[in-house]
Amino acid sequence: MTPETRSKYQAVIGLEVHAQMLTKTKAYSNDINEYGAVPNTNVSVITLGHPGTLPKMNKQTIEYAIRLGLACESKIAPEQHFARKNYFYPDLPKGYQITQDTTPICTEGQIIVKDDDGNEKSIGITRIHMEEDAGKSMHDVDVYDTLVDLNRAGVPLLEIVSEPDLRSSQEAYNYVTEVRKLVRYLEICDGNMEEGSLRCDANISVMEVGASEFGTKVEVKNMNSIRNVQKAIEFEISRQIEAIEKGEVIAQETRSFDALKGITISMRSKEAANDYRYFPEPDLLPIEVTKEHIESVKKTMPPLPRTLFLKYLNEFGLSEYDANNLTDSKEIALFYEDIIEHTKNYKGAANWVMGSIKSFLNERGLEISEFPIPAKNIAELITIIDDGKISSSAATQKVFPAMLENPQTHPAKLAETLNVIQDSNEDAILEFVNEVIKQHPDEVARYRSGEKQLVGFFMGQLMRVSKGKADPKAANQLMRQRLEAL
Ligand code: ADP
Ligand code: MG
Repeated sequence: MTPETRSKYQAVIGLEVHAQMLTKTKAYSNDINEYGAVPNTNVSVITLGHPGTLPKMNKQTIEYAIRLGLACESKIAPEQHFARKNYFYPDLPKGYQITQDTTPICTEGQIIVKDDDGNEKSIGITRIHMEEDAGKSMHDVDVYDTLVDLNRAGVPLLEIVSEPDLRSSQEAYNYVTEVRKLVRYLEICDGNMEEGSLRCDANISVMEVGASEFGTKVEVKNMNSIRNVQKAIEFEISRQIEAIEKGEVIAQETRSFDALKGITISMRSKEAANDYRYFPEPDLLPIEVTKEHIESVKKTMPPLPRTLFLKYLNEFGLSEYDANNLTDSKEIALFYEDIIEHTKNYKGAANWVMGSIKSFLNERGLEISEFPIPAKNIAELITIIDDGKISSSAATQKVFPAMLENPQTHPAKLAETLNVIQDSNEDAILEFVNEVIKQHPDEVARYRSGEKQLVGFFMGQLMRVSKGKADPKAANQLMRQRLEAL
């Protein structure tokens, strides 16, 4: 496709994200909710949908849904009902899914993402509702048969439906990244797309630039990474534009993404789509969410990535890059927060976290939770650098490695043992200055006749005679003063 053809069209994208909740038990039974258990071991008669069994609401799910709703600034419905979504499939033993149809718990929210130019943009969240997962059909484990694992059946899900506000595959990539960050900060979902605990269906259409009506949307499923969501959307945009250019009409259908080939393949057309025959779930009472309940959840809300990002940017004066880097992972952000409880040098603390600390973790494949040095000692290290007691290079090259070996020892103490405490005592430094001036009369004469760059030479000599322990800033100042005053 030529760039001219491409530029005639505008893509429109809306995403439906399913997040598996990190609850101990399933949505409507006491069966354990865990990934990777021996197949079909976490299945009671409720999960199997035996006649006469009754579902029971897991309160934790409601709590998690409220957390996410608050984080997205959604409205939270005071009263909700459950519905049955009926369809037949081997991994759905009840023959229906318990979901929320007309009364989702959250409506009218928003998530802020970056657009292609790096500007902020609000993506509307149409709704977030609670439902349950189906079991898992495995088509590639056995040569002849499809195997079914019902451990996943009944696992609580939140479905997050966006408005068709996204305009490019990059925006969609940024959006899913943001959703994943959010559910991880809220500790309601582990966000692992490879294991399927976060899944995304993409609705994609194209229209001519400036058109007043959206084109017909196609839904694409089965992307197991955020990168693949982006690739699937990119492929789909091109496919639709090429079809329209050929005079074809886009059919409303569901397609599947083939990650190996990087293409989407038609699964079923809208005509063949299920009629789910939703009706109210008679076995679960409506849920009431009181204002008090919402307030109590608000009190337990962890810090949100965006709140921290804005604080670092606006209050701490960090760059956007730094603020993003620090808030990418909640654990890193919280460690940074711990450091700055004890020092006001925000940029210094950011540099240590993003520099020496992250390199140490990366080299050893460790998480920040496994980092041996307490945040307080990092803050102390920063303070003794700022006080001119040790140089930054002594800090990174000598004191920090020693701290890794002796994480509980005060860095000042280690600096003493390592003999890297700088002398900022003016009298002591002045003695070194005088010694250097005495030893190099020729250079002094050249300096005085205008070769001011020789100050570097004198500083080198000073560091030599002081064995590197003179505070460079103080020494530099005294050296210049003495040379000028001669
Ligand atoms: P359906 O009734 O087919 O489920 P919805 O209106 O509920 O469709 O929308 C499902 C998803 O599709 C939402 O995320 C929405 O933003 C998105 N969507 C709706 N219309 C379009 C469109 N024309 N192009 C792209 N995405 C769309
Ligand atoms: Mg819909």
